[in-house]
Amino acid sequence: MVRTGTLREQDLVSARLVEAGRLAEITRVAGKFAVALTADVAELIDPANPADPIAAQFVPSGAELEVADEERADPIGDARWSPIPGIVHRYPDRVLLKPTVLCPVYCRFCFRREVVGKRPAVLDQPALERAFEYIRQRPEIWEVIVTGGDPFVLAPRRLTEIVRTLDQIPHIAVIRFHTRAPVVDPRRVTPALVEALAAEKAVYVVVHANHPRELTPRVREALTRLSRAGIPLLSQTVLLRGINDDAAVLEALFRGLVAMRVKPYYLHHADLARGTAHFRIGIAAGQRLARSLRGRVSGLCQPTYVLDIPGGYGKVPIAPCAASAGGEAGGWNVEDPAGVQHAYPADPED
Ligand code: SF4
Repeated sequence: MVRTGTLREQDLVSARLVEAGRLAEITRVAGKFAVALTADVAELIDPANPADPIAAQFVPSGAELEVADEERADPIGDARWSPIPGIVHRYPDRVLLKPTVLCPVYCRFCFRREVVGKRPAVLDQPALERAFEYIRQRPEIWEVIVTGGDPFVLAPRRLTEIVRTLDQIPHIAVIRFHTRAPVVDPRRVTPALVEALAAEKAVYVVVHANHPRELTPRVREALTRLSRAGIPLLSQTVLLRGINDDAAVLEALFRGLVAMRVKPYYLHHADLARGTAHFRIGIAAGQRLARSLRGRVSGLCQPTYVLDIPGGYGKVPIAPCAASAGGEAGGWNVEDPAGVQHAYPADPED
């Protein structure tokens, strides 16, 4: 049994999540990248299983100190598109607003691992005002994605301020929160936090979940509190070697999410963050998994398999397309879920 609250590296040994002989290695990793687990996550880990898929996501390992040539400090190019602190404006009609870089846990594969958990931990009030003003001044911004870090670590009072301010900007139609908290720290989703998300504009919550064992009864309760408040729920999952690079695991995860009223939205190919090569599989393997989900689960359970092009060039779908040109008489070849090809007529003349 582990104590409640947040576990840092020195607590991992006493919680039997790390052997005492590995503490020096873990401390070296913690000197570079933030470490924290919640009690809910720690309780899910089987210390007797060296390949436990929950431990692999959150317990640091010496492999993180090995940096591959292709890896980058800012793998998706946030800095390139950040005109002022707290704002990333990569696409014309939407911005990221990052009010904090703190998270309840620190995922070992995080694409923002060079900034999360570091200081300054939150945008101060003048910087937050400048971020709001940036959004106010640009009528082309239709959607604000509040991310971080994890915005649900903020007190409900701060969240209320963010939601109310965005709600009052006439050209904003959608306020979208990206959070890991309902899954890794479900008790944080209190009635006060849910109340803080109330708005006239559409508010969406996108939760991050990677393995079906994360979907505990407590997580269901947290998600139910959000969905009962009328908040549409979506999910994002990172495809991770040894954790969920298996069709049966992905199927169980996506079915579990849908059963908790969460629509799987993105399956991310893991980014080229430094010290994360041990988590990545190849794109061809990812495509085989995406293809194997076709026909195996309904469209409701299928996220879009995407890659953020390194350097900040945007997010693109990379699942194999079932239709290919080159059929008879200018037609198409279309592959069914069993892998059998079928002819489809040529396109009509324009
Ligand atoms: S919760 Fe999200 S931002 Fe925080 S460490 Fe995990 S992946 Fe990174």
